[in-house]
Amino acid sequence: MKKIIAVFLIVFACILTISGSLGFTALSFCEEEINSFVTENGNRTAGSEGEKQSANYIEERLTALNIAPLYESYQQSFEYNDLTSQNVLGLVDNGSTSYVVIGAHYDNIYKLDESVGANDNASGVVTSLNIASNFVSKNLDYNIIFAYFGAEEVGLVGSEYFLNNLDENILKNIILYINLDSIGAGDYLYYYTYDAPTSYGNFIDNYASDYSITKLGSKRLFSNRTTQGINYNHIGLNSDNANFIRRGINSLTFFAGNLDVARLGFHETQDHNKIMHNTDSIETNVEVFGERFYINMATVNNFVTDLMLSESFASEMSVREINPTLLTDWFLKIIAIIFVAVLALGTFLFFKFKGKKQNPNRQLKRSKISVKEQKEIAEK
Ligand SMILES: [Zn+2]
Repeated sequence: MKKIIAVFLIVFACILTISGSLGFTALSFCEEEINSFVTENGNRTAGSEGEKQSANYIEERLTALNIAPLYESYQQSFEYNDLTSQNVLGLVDNGSTSYVVIGAHYDNIYKLDESVGANDNASGVVTSLNIASNFVSKNLDYNIIFAYFGAEEVGLVGSEYFLNNLDENILKNIILYINLDSIGAGDYLYYYTYDAPTSYGNFIDNYASDYSITKLGSKRLFSNRTTQGINYNHIGLNSDNANFIRRGINSLTFFAGNLDVARLGFHETQDHNKIMHNTDSIETNVEVFGERFYINMATVNNFVTDLMLSESFASEMSVREINPTLLTDWFLKIIAIIFVAVLALGTFLFFKFKGKKQNPNRQLKRSKISVKEQKEIAEK
């Protein structure tokens, strides 16, 4: 009996240690990395010196993680309004023909000294870097591109340049694009795949049911906003994922917020009504959301990692089409409607003509002239 109790205690202690250490690791990566990222570069607006320095920072982190550059160098420069911005691109090459792209923009909106884009989008950058560290030595049946986009806030310029210049063989073999944008500041964490049900979306829905992430279905913007030719008619399209979706690429987007009918903004907080783009510092986010700010990032980190490591992930994501069951449902519904309509018409006609045969006087009765008059006419 004592042995059983001892074994039980040891197992229990192990479980506590493992779960405790996992939780600690998940939270500590966010705090340390996000602090060092925003402290070094507060102003990361498109084309700025700070944006360039942030690109160098990300490049150093990828180098330290032993993640190779996608091209000859990590940074892909492009011109925007006479300014130079750049994407930072790393590749985990598993010798496959399929690709998963994980993207986070690293530029920001810098309005005031105390707004350094901690949520938008240092949260996405540090979470993506941590996901990268989880996938360095995994031998999976797809390659992974880690993309850090510049000039997102000025109209998704970096991701558009990335896609326009991507090798056709990679472009047509992207099985999923995962977008991380503003994933800390909010009491709720949201994910968005696409408005129409898709088979890859269904797989993600089933997978997400174990996590505290809310699926975003019908949160449409009140008015269509168009920037750089891109129509953001849905709040879930308000980031670099719009460029991928436009090209028919499966996509999965995460963001945190407090969405309801009255508040469609990513950056408003229920408690303080502060516009986060004006006060997007670590201090404000922690003051408003507490540990939730870090827990959201850790949740995305864990969810994406688990999803990508799940056995059927690559095969489920490869399907790039509207869910066939949805089409079958509609097909069956239409067949059913036609069947009921034909049946109703048939029944109506059957009784109409049956009634005519059985009661020859019926037609006469309905006539405006009387039966007697009709008989008289007939005798003539
Ligand atoms: Zn953003």
